[in-house]
Amino acid sequence: MNKLTFTAQEWLRYTRHIQLKGFGASAQAKLKRSRVLVVGLGGLGCPVAAYLAAAGVGHLTLVDGDTVDATNLQRQILYTGRDIDEYKAEIAREKLTQLNADIVIDAHCSHFSLSLASQLGEFDLLVDCTDNFASRYLINDFCLRENLTWLYASVNHFSGQCALFEAGEACFRCLFPETPQHIEDCNAAGVIGTVPAMLGVIQANEAIAFLSGRDAALKNKLLILDVSRLDSRKISLVADPSCRCRNSSITIDSQSPDYQFACEDGLSAAGSPSAALSLAPEAFARECHREGVMVVDVRSEQERELFHIGGDHLPIDKFDQALDNLDREQTIICYCQTGKRSLAFAEKLSRHGFNAKSLSGGLVAMLKMSFKKG
Ligand SMILES: [Zn+2]
Repeated sequence: MNKLTFTAQEWLRYTRHIQLKGFGASAQAKLKRSRVLVVGLGGLGCPVAAYLAAAGVGHLTLVDGDTVDATNLQRQILYTGRDIDEYKAEIAREKLTQLNADIVIDAHCSHFSLSLASQLGEFDLLVDCTDNFASRYLINDFCLRENLTWLYASVNHFSGQCALFEAGEACFRCLFPETPQHIEDCNAAGVIGTVPAMLGVIQANEAIAFLSGRDAALKNKLLILDVSRLDSRKISLVADPSCRCRNSSITIDSQSPDYQFACEDGLSAAGSPSAALSLAPEAFARECHREGVMVVDVRSEQERELFHIGGDHLPIDKFDQALDNLDREQTIICYCQTGKRSLAFAEKLSRHGFNAKSLSGGLVAMLKMSFKKG
């Protein structure tokens, strides 16, 4: 007897796909032969990787250089409190192998780069589950060069976007020639956990359509989803004649500033004027009890009521009234949630001649440090 495409166990596992009209065993066989690269295993990547593994995509390659953090657990459902500080890609590989041991899953615990991509082999699809424009430009240019189809998704507050980019059609740079100024990258903006989950499931749905040979609804289209009103619209993408994707030979300069990922979460680049005002959590813990030091919480009344770590309360909007009551002999150390507002407060104080500092990374960094020690 010739070797069958499916084992009995697989035939049973994928019954609901196999008996679905318009899908069937041939589409399932295409999924089994597919190789997919998932870049990023956060709020988007967790549902994407889980649904592709469950659906029986034969080979998944997972790439993420980050480790699990306590602030991820509100939305990144492949991880638990026991996984903190472990590499996301490795934990995801373990969990997804438990979900479906019949597929091959590779994990790479480093950020996506051209040198990593050159070692990974060939793929039918790349799914972008990153959270920043630098990574998306690199993925776009890599996929253009390799003629690789990719799925983009992003989340901003209560809205999300998703598109499928194919060689020869409009590319991500046609849509975003430059990084939009109003969009907050990284984790600075805050997000309800279900928002990236919804976009991740849309990506997984499109990936399954594309890989199984059906028409992907978002091919050369951008879906814009308003998650708070549950309104959505699709716009057709038009290639920009001046875009680099119209050029037949795509070269990638890995040093291009386009690919440099800068995350402003209240941490300052060393040597910058604000770096001089920044105090690491360890230094804050030492300094805050010293004589001649005043600790100031610059957050709102509401935030203060819910949780604080001591010190006086001077909300940033009361800065002008507070100025006259501050002792110029003291060092004033400010804190907020992520270090952004406290740095602005410390900069203002500094301009008024005060000796001021800001807790770098804010309460979040402080709490992470204390839980690590505990
Ligand atoms: Zn383009």
